[in-house]
Amino acid sequence: MSELRTNVSLRDLNTLRLQSNAACFMSATSVEDVQLSVHEAKERGLSLIALGGGSNVILGPEIEALIVHMNILGRQLLDESDEHVWVRIGAGENWHESVLWAHQNGYYGLENLALIPGSVGAAPVQNIGAYGVEVEKFISQVNVVNGVSGECGRLSNEECEFGYRDSLFKRESGKHWLITSVDFRLAKQPVCSIEYPDLIKMIGDETLTPAGILNAVISLRRKKLPDPSNEPNVGSFFKNPVVSQEHAKTLKDEHNEMPQFSVQDDRIKLSAAWMIDYLGWRGAQEAGVMVSEQHALVLVNKSASFASELIVLADKISESVSRNFHVQLEIEPQMIALDS
Ligand code: NAP
Repeated sequence: MSELRTNVSLRDLNTLRLQSNAACFMSATSVEDVQLSVHEAKERGLSLIALGGGSNVILGPEIEALIVHMNILGRQLLDESDEHVWVRIGAGENWHESVLWAHQNGYYGLENLALIPGSVGAAPVQNIGAYGVEVEKFISQVNVVNGVSGECGRLSNEECEFGYRDSLFKRESGKHWLITSVDFRLAKQPVCSIEYPDLIKMIGDETLTPAGILNAVISLRRKKLPDPSNEPNVGSFFKNPVVSQEHAKTLKDEHNEMPQFSVQDDRIKLSAAWMIDYLGWRGAQEAGVMVSEQHALVLVNKSASFASELIVLADKISESVSRNFHVQLEIEPQMIALDS
């Protein structure tokens, strides 16, 4: 049974290493612990906020809430057919280790998502995606506790309302759900998805296998992205903006080399990293925060203590992109206990 603690520092529980204090804190290793945290929050009149690997959050300095740290572990095979397996993975399991576990067991599909930092419970929240694959494709069900009533529930894939780096769990209507485990439907036969130029180049003439994709994604990410354990960061800081065809055409007329990708509803996705790089931000530093030399979409905390210092540079980048490309960048990680 987990203990409730007060005035707890979250600095070591967020990969940006920002200073943040939680009024109350519990670590949950079971569904019952999560239910207990709901009860405790209600007793104290506090809101309840779930924290996973802390790799996709920007924490405010003082969090007047009960933080429940999701540490539910376990990976189990639930069912199988000739073609698929259904597995359940605890919200507190590390995402990358779970990708490796699935692959090593011959459960295929998640290879493109290797090395994404964070926990399994966080994966559905922002519908993590990389190299043309989004996790929604493999999620059969998300198991939850209602953060208001404490009741257990399950949400089907459709009920999760997945979108581009988005889901019900990010919206007001879904914020009360606390994810305890995720059920995946994975393939028994190798599935290989390569669409992205970097991945195609890396695989080269090799025969296409899930192991080849896994290794290629791991080496690409290691080469292109700063490791949060050495350089505090939350991966992509901004989402790739999606604009109308007219807007995209105007931009293409001005910048012929600008990468553009068609997405659903005839809209066009732009590369936030390309625009930030084009405007010369790579390597820029301000108030202890730096635009990574390795990847222009990543902000690295060099010496900042608080989220406000990070936001100064993020705002300047957004303003410059807006001024030059008439595109509004949206911050990808979740802001907790911050005004904007
Ligand atoms: P890249 O290959 O240099 O491409 C730049 C951007 O163009 C990517 O963000 C990607 O969008 C988009 N893109 C490239 N090829 C595409 C295609 N064939 N169809 C549609 N969109 C395409 O990307 P990168 O920066 O090295 O990143 C590679 C992958 O890792 C991307 O999927 C990216 O999202 C992912 N990533 C995730 C994080 C994170 O923290 N969550 C950080 C860095 C990179 P998408 O982002 O929509 O895929």
